[in-house]
Order: sequence, then C-alpha cells, then structure tokens
Amino acid sequence: MEILRIEGTDIDVSRVALGTWAIGGWLWGGSDEQLSIRTIHKALDHGITLIDTAPVYGFGQAETIVGKALASSSHRARARIATKLGLAWKDDKVRRDASRERVEREVDDSLRRLGVDHLDIEQVHWPDPAVPAQETAQALLRLQQQGKIRAIGVSNYSPEQMSAFLDYAPLHTSQPPYNLFEREIERDVLPFCRNHRITTLMYGALCRGLLSGRIRVDTRFGEGDIRNVDPKFKPSRRQHYLAAVDELDRFAQDRGKTLIQLAVRWVLDQPGSPIALWGARKPEQLDPLDGVWGWRLSAQELADIDQIVVRHISEPVGPGFMAPPLHETRS
Ligand code: NAP
Repeated sequence: MEILRIEGTDIDVSRVALGTWAIGGWLWGGSDEQLSIRTIHKALDHGITLIDTAPVYGFGQAETIVGKALASSSHRARARIATKLGLAWKDDKVRRDASRERVEREVDDSLRRLGVDHLDIEQVHWPDPAVPAQETAQALLRLQQQGKIRAIGVSNYSPEQMSAFLDYAPLHTSQPPYNLFEREIERDVLPFCRNHRITTLMYGALCRGLLSGRIRVDTRFGEGDIRNVDPKFKPSRRQHYLAAVDELDRFAQDRGKTLIQLAVRWVLDQPGSPIALWGARKPEQLDPLDGVWGWRLSAQELADIDQIVVRHISEPVGPGFMAPPLHETRS
C-alpha cells in the first residue's frame, strides 16, 4: 500500500480510498448492509485507510453503514473519513445548497451518523453558484477552527471556483472525475491543483465498472442503476469503449496484471500523486487490490495506453450527466 500526506495537513492516507456511493444504494439499485460492512472491513484489513462517503449517498444510508463498520473494526483508529456536504434532498430529488446553515447542519449530521468526533476531510460536493464562495468557505473554516473537521476540500469545482474559494479559506483537497476514459480535467483542474498544492482524490477510477472487464455488450443493469442513463453505456457508444477495454485488457495481461489493476495504477501514476477512489460494495471486488502495488507504468507505457484509447474512442463523452440540478434562488 502506498501512503501519502494530504497537502498542508498532518493527515496520512492510503493512495487507494474506498468509495461508498454504491454502498448507499441510491442510483445503484439498492444495497446490502451486511455485505457493505464486510466490504469496508476488507478494505481496512487490506491497508486502505481512507473511506470516501457523502450524506447524499442513500440519503444518510452510506454514512450510517460506514459508522457501523468503523464501530466493529479493529482498524478503527487508523481509518480516515472523507465526507461531503452541499447537496439537499427531498424525497429522492436532489439540489445544491452550500449555504452556511446547511454546511453547519450537515457536519453535525455526518458526525452523528458516522459516530465520530471529527471528520478528516470535509468536501463541498458540487459548486453552488447561488451561494457566494465566501459564505461556504468561511463556514468551513470556522468548523475547522472548532476542530469538527481537519481538512477542507471541494469536488467538481473548476479552477475559477477553487480560486474564488481560496480567497477565504485553505483548500487541501479537490475531488474531480478522472479515469482512462474521462480526461477533461487534464486541461485545467489538474494543473491548477498541482500549482496550488491541492491533493486530488480521483473519482470514477473504474469508470463505473467499464474498466473492470466485467461489462459486456449485453450486460444489463437493474432498475434505478445510474448506468442506465450513462451515455457511455448506450449500445452505440458502449461498443467503442468495449473495443478499447479489450485492447487494454490484453495490454494488462502482457504485464501479468488485470484490467482493473491497470486502470487504478494508471490513475496513481499520473503527475501530482493523486488518490484513486475504488467504488466497491462486495468484499471480493477488492481481491485485485494487492496487485496494484509494487509496480509503475513507464512513460512509454502511458503513451501506448493513450494510443489505445484514442484509436477506439474518437468522441469521448464526459461524466457531466451526473451533475445535480442548480437552484437559482435561496429557499
Ligand atoms: P467506480 O469506482 O469507477 O466504479 C464502481 C463500479 O465498479 C461498480 O459498478 C462495481 O460493480 C465495479 N467494480 C468494483 N470493483 C470491481 C471488481 N473487482 N470487479 C468488477 N467490477 C468491479 O465508480 P463510482 O462508485 O462512481 O466512483 C467511486 C467513488 O467515487 C464513489 O463510491 C464515491 O465515493 C466517489 N464519487 C464521487 C463523486 C462526486 O461527485 N464527488 C461522483 C461519483 C463518485 P457493481 O456494479 O457490480 O457493484
């Protein structure tokens, strides 16, 4: 396991973090609590020390399950928690709200659900243009000064949005989407984070399972699974992505690795020492984890991988379909 220190803090974490969106069930066709707890225990047993979660994942469900798993784990003391705030929900409708009131209430709710006395990383889940950056940033800074949170992060922010935030509070982490097939952030977000010494937590490292090698042309997803609306999984596009997947799989096998290990290693070997989030909800999904360590992709291999992707995917589609709606006025 590789460990890194979050920039500007004394928080050390594993470079692979467990993502718990699917554990919350919402948009992933439901979840199984006992299986989820065993998955979190397996992650901690295998050296993962960072767990990424959010209130909106299952509307409290993921945080509650993480809390239960921590309470019954012998590795509780070394587990670090990254959670989020700034999304409000009513029934299953989600909208952005990064107002001071919401920020303060969400931190207290997360502490309660997780059963902890502080949050290691608190991230604004999506930018909320209806609330001035000053209000959100200063609310988080006060919570850090009170000792409720240790590090401040954002997610899905542009460089301009991060820049506005930095006028009022430090930013220790940023969580953008990034994987072999979703590379938009290379243009601006990544250089900004490197220049400002902001640690990146890359989400979607497996491209929602597309880079696991398990998805086939005829793979169907259950009701309420986000991949039913992900443009990459539509038949016309899926065949191009799967052609790239086949070639990447052979590339991995030639090196004694599996596709999933290649996909995670690819994220880890990008400049700036990013953290890769691995979304898992069954213990066996973490079996390939040990094969991620002890090797690196060379510059030539990274270039060869780029060629494979470009050869098959001429019109990449981004992860923008996941963006939750804005609210233009404060309610
Ligand atoms: P992901 O990690 O790219 O992919 C998760 C998918 O990979 C699941 O569908 C799972 O399959 C599959 N998988 C995992 N291990 C596997 C294995 N060994 N073999 C075969 N399939 C495997 O996607 P993600 O969950 O969207 O992203 C990861 C984490 O990033 C989330 O859990 C969350 O913490 C974070 N995230 C953050 C944001 C944000 O806005 N900040 C957005 C998205 C995600 P099954 O379907 O079979 O379980």
